[in-house]
Amino acid sequence: MKRGGRNGTNQNGGTGCEENVMVVVMQERATEEQVDAVIARLIELGMDVHRSSGATRTVLGVVGTNKIDPGLIGILDGVHEVLRISEPYKLASRTFKPEDTVVSVGDVRIGGDEVVVMAGPCSAETPAQVEAAAAAVKRAGAKVLRGGAFKPRSSPYSFQGLGEPGLVMLRDAADHHDLKLISEVMDISQIELVGKYADIFQVGARNMQNFTLLRELGRARKPVLLKRGISATIEEWLLSAEYILAGGNGDVILCERGIRTFETATRNTFDVSAIPVVKKLSHLPIVADPSHGAGRRDMVAPMARAAVAAGVDGLIIEVHHDPDRALSDGAQSMFPAQFDRVMAELRIIAPAIGRSICVDTPARHGWIR
Ligand code: PEP
Ligand code: MN
Repeated sequence: MKRGGRNGTNQNGGTGCEENVMVVVMQERATEEQVDAVIARLIELGMDVHRSSGATRTVLGVVGTNKIDPGLIGILDGVHEVLRISEPYKLASRTFKPEDTVVSVGDVRIGGDEVVVMAGPCSAETPAQVEAAAAAVKRAGAKVLRGGAFKPRSSPYSFQGLGEPGLVMLRDAADHHDLKLISEVMDISQIELVGKYADIFQVGARNMQNFTLLRELGRARKPVLLKRGISATIEEWLLSAEYILAGGNGDVILCERGIRTFETATRNTFDVSAIPVVKKLSHLPIVADPSHGAGRRDMVAPMARAAVAAGVDGLIIEVHHDPDRALSDGAQSMFPAQFDRVMAELRIIAPAIGRSICVDTPARHGWIR
């Protein structure tokens, strides 16, 4: 073993407590000088290097607490490949915290045995519309009302949300039906206002890498539901969660809402496989949004069923009393009766994997068609 110098300081930005592990694979024809030069550079960077030489190749195991850019090692002469073994995020990883995180919102626990359902309209439109949605989702067993007052629309000419009057409608309806409230915050300037009304901040897919917003939410004292960006890898998504955690807010809930692929039959491709992957890599709870994942109301139920079977800790679903006239996302919003039905189905699926879904509501006695 070649030991790198450790003088207690960390010139490369690491916090000094987490271990970085990588493997450097040398080219088949790498010379002894090239191998020695790579080892010397790694030691200079403060790493321990374990050399293993076979008949034709040399492999270097690299361990240390300094952060090094694998790209800078990959371009050294004679290097074939650099494999990073440890994750680039720390606080979000299961290595750092093996047990599941449970995010509590009053008496609602996200990440425990119960699959928590959040549901409601895409956007708050009128007091009557929000009230109708809240009554319907409560009756079916949801614990959290969803609804946007600030809407990240692809077109600047589409309905942008009602702002504070929308938040007032949502809060009133949530209180009336004893539901918690989740609503989207798009910008740091909206944090105080949204936080005045909502119990959970939603960060939308388009803002997953709005790092100033994430940093600021790290200072907030309310849970944050972080949606996966439309083209984000799971690693990028967990790094975004890391921003919030590193800021001091440990109450982060991840949300898979579909990613952009070559497929055009659905609005997005709902990535069910992200659920077990995230569960393996991270201790944070994960919620699925089958509404944005599918983009069509007839496909929301199968995606919701698949998500629960795959092990999600919660669902967030769009429901509207008159979806064909909704001001946003009508095509993917469920009728209340469809929502009742999928809830009844989920109540059968959840126990099969040791989970429950809101067992104490009138809707458990049968669904309403
Ligand atoms: C929404 O929840 O209505 C929304 C805009 O979601 P996303 O950020 O996933 O597109
Ligand atoms: Mn929507």
